[in-house]
Amino acid sequence: MIELDLTTDVLVVGGGPAATWAAVKAAAAGADVVLADKGYCGTSGATASAGTGVWYVPPEPAEREAAMASREGLGGYLADRRWMARVLDQTYAGVNELAGATRYPFPVTGNGEQLRTGLQGPEYMRRMRAWVRRRGVRILDHSPVTELLADPSGAVAGAVGHRRQVGRDFRVRAGAVVLASGGCAFLSGALGCNVNTGDGALFAAEAGAELSGMEFSNAYGIAPEGTSVTKTAFYHYATFYTEDGNESR
Ligand SMILES: Cc1cc2nc3c(=O)[nH]c(=O)nc-3n(C[C@H](O)[C@H](O)[C@H](O)COP(=O)(O)OP(=O)(O)OC[C@H]3O[C@@H](n4cnc5c(N)ncnc54)[C@H](O)[C@@H]3O)c2cc1C
Repeated sequence: MIELDLTTDVLVVGGGPAATWAAVKAAAAGADVVLADKGYCGTSGATASAGTGVWYVPPEPAEREAAMASREGLGGYLADRRWMARVLDQTYAGVNELAGATRYPFPVTGNGEQLRTGLQGPEYMRRMRAWVRRRGVRILDHSPVTELLADPSGAVAGAVGHRRQVGRDFRVRAGAVVLASGGCAFLSGALGCNVNTGDGALFAAEAGAELSGMEFSNAYGIAPEGTSVTKTAFYHYATFYTEDGNESR
């Protein structure tokens, strides 16, 4: 039974960094926004419980070039430089905006310069939630989306879900839906990933979307049994050799 029936311009599905940034940006552009999170927005997802290294590199051509070159080997020389350049631009702009809008307490060097190359997940996501709320976004916590809605032409027109703490369903009719429900790492056991059951990818596939890059979505690392982190330092610290004993690239 539907307990809550809303109509909005933009429905954002998820509550991690992708979702909260999407909600902030849509609201800043003048849209009425609803955000539905399976968990509690600000504490759910892979970032909220982690420390996040950020690729924050000033827009100096030599520094940007060195940054991209340093990552190419880590990515098995599969990375597309146009995407790397875009990520560098977006990250630099986003972190600077975050610093201004949320007054994130970056560590400060002896010369008074802020170090913006890392974020503490709990502090970051707490501030993202506050920013989302300041923008007037309606947040539905503990409210997993279970299915997209489509209009008669087949276009996505909102979603339905379940309000876990009320035990009733909800429906949001929306002009646009942003799927930002994270990856599909729930079996990894990594902290914060229990909510990441790939729902958004499934909804998109059900709506007829073509997915790309999925071959890279399940790179589980090697870690001692029972640890909460399954990320590995595989390429950082290993050296590989070809059969004739030469170092492999
Ligand atoms: C151990 C570890 C270390 C990492 N280190 C770094 C790092 O140093 N630097 C870096 O840049 N990245 C790092 N990452 C990756 C980074 O955490 C993720 O890329 C990032 O969290 C993805 O953000 P997201 O918003 O897409 O998803 P998430 O942060 O995972 O959020 C997903 C959100 O979707 C919600 N959700 C899921 N299903 C539904 C549904 N059906 N309905 C409603 N809501 C739903 C969840 O509750 C959650 O709020 C690391 C990840 C891990 C696991």
